[in-house]
Amino acid sequence: MNNQEQLIGSVVQEVLRQLGPQQTVVNTSAGKVAVSPLGLGVFNDVDQAVDQATRSQQQLVAAGMEVRSAICDMFKQLSRQNAQQWGRIEFEETKIGRLDHKIVKLELLEAVPGVEFLRTAAHSGDKGVSFDEAAPWGVIGVIIPVTHSIPTMTSNAISMIAAGNAMVVNPHPSGAKSAVVGAVAYNLAIKERFNIDPLICIIEQPTLRSAEEIFKHEGIALLAATGGPGVARAALKQPKRAIVAGPGNPPVVVDETANFDNAARSIIEGAAFDNNLLCIGEKEVFVVSSAFDAMMDAMRRAGAVQLTTQQADELAKEVFSYEKDHYAVKKQYVGADTHVLGQLVDVNIPVGTDLLYAETDESNPFVSEEQMMPFVPFLRAADFDRAVDLAIKYEHGFGHTAVIHSSNLDHITQMGRAVNTTLFVVNGPSTACLGAGGEGYASYSIATPTGEGVTNPLTFTRFRRVAVAGALRMV
Ligand code: NAD
Repeated sequence: MNNQEQLIGSVVQEVLRQLGPQQTVVNTSAGKVAVSPLGLGVFNDVDQAVDQATRSQQQLVAAGMEVRSAICDMFKQLSRQNAQQWGRIEFEETKIGRLDHKIVKLELLEAVPGVEFLRTAAHSGDKGVSFDEAAPWGVIGVIIPVTHSIPTMTSNAISMIAAGNAMVVNPHPSGAKSAVVGAVAYNLAIKERFNIDPLICIIEQPTLRSAEEIFKHEGIALLAATGGPGVARAALKQPKRAIVAGPGNPPVVVDETANFDNAARSIIEGAAFDNNLLCIGEKEVFVVSSAFDAMMDAMRRAGAVQLTTQQADELAKEVFSYEKDHYAVKKQYVGADTHVLGQLVDVNIPVGTDLLYAETDESNPFVSEEQMMPFVPFLRAADFDRAVDLAIKYEHGFGHTAVIHSSNLDHITQMGRAVNTTLFVVNGPSTACLGAGGEGYASYSIATPTGEGVTNPLTFTRFRRVAVAGALRMV
């Protein structure tokens, strides 16, 4: 271990033990020094956080592109090196999902793109030359979810810092300690190596009020909010530009031409990932009637455990509450293990079961709600057209993710056009659309209502043109 790794390791432990404004003694390459987490980009006051981020962003811009690139590489390296420890910290704090997958999510940050994604467009002609350059916004106000606290913050940080920005982050209150651990480690590494002050300024005790202050702050040029319907609506209402990565309820359609075993393995892989916490994860499956029994058999062969329709209805009564006119997921069951769900309906689920499934009808709230649990309802559709109609209905117009299993190109094209989602996955797990099992780069923020798609450094830039009139053209 080199000095920097030792330093970061000890800070993470110390910060975790002593989160708060107290002084913390850490081992640095220069010996033991006392630091306060508050000096490492951790704030309780939004104004102070914005002030710091503004100054740090100017240092970042002055440092140049190579430094930005090195910072992105360093973040990926740190998240990989600390994946076990940070995964455990996040799992223990949030108490949702699966430890093994929390670790994988940190390792997958490797696939988030950096400065190589920035591009300059050049125009050259009789009247001279012009360049359109991807410039930073300045300070970005960032809201992150509890479902992937450190991964979303890191993914956003790589994209935003590659683009030359600093951040003020309001984490979810139930994932704030983990996010602070990550932010402190990153800020410390940037300070040690590049002498740049904190670029990730994080609110230690986030509230809806601090989120609101970030939304409204004059020093924040752009907002990036990742979360459910409430925060998506709130961010969209603001009088400044917001990039919004909102909720989903991804439907799957299976037709009679599908490879059922591949479909079953894929549905399990996607829906069971972190106990179905992913916004892209398969949440309900519509199978054409003629393929229904074969598909249910394939799920069993692939290792999922089938509940009866009655057990699925009982499970829904346990894990959803009905409030006014809509269902709400009971928080204690979000990201729960399969055996916990099984216990609720007196079914003993074998250890190591990734996913539960059952035939249900449309009245079961597991169909309409974004359940974020490792149980997936399967519904019979009279034919392919009906299956697509149901997929569109239960995607709720979020425009997020949809999946098809089929070898009929006409069906694939028909559904892809009709469902009109940001991500459309064919014959693979939902994770394939973020580079895990498919092609393409990764990101933990898929901007859906605002249309930027899988976010990357370019998402967080503004284009500026310089025009040189009548000169600099060499040909
Ligand atoms: P959540 O909506 O409860 O919270 C998300 C964040 O928004 C938190 O930091 C929370 O404190 C904040 N927040 C909530 N309401 C707010 C309001 N009115 N004003 C300001 N801030 C507010 O969601 P969660 O449980 O943390 O995460 C799961 C949700 O996020 C799911 O709906 C999932 O689909 C979505 N999500 C989407 C993406 C994507 O890329 N599109 C990625 C991850 C999660």
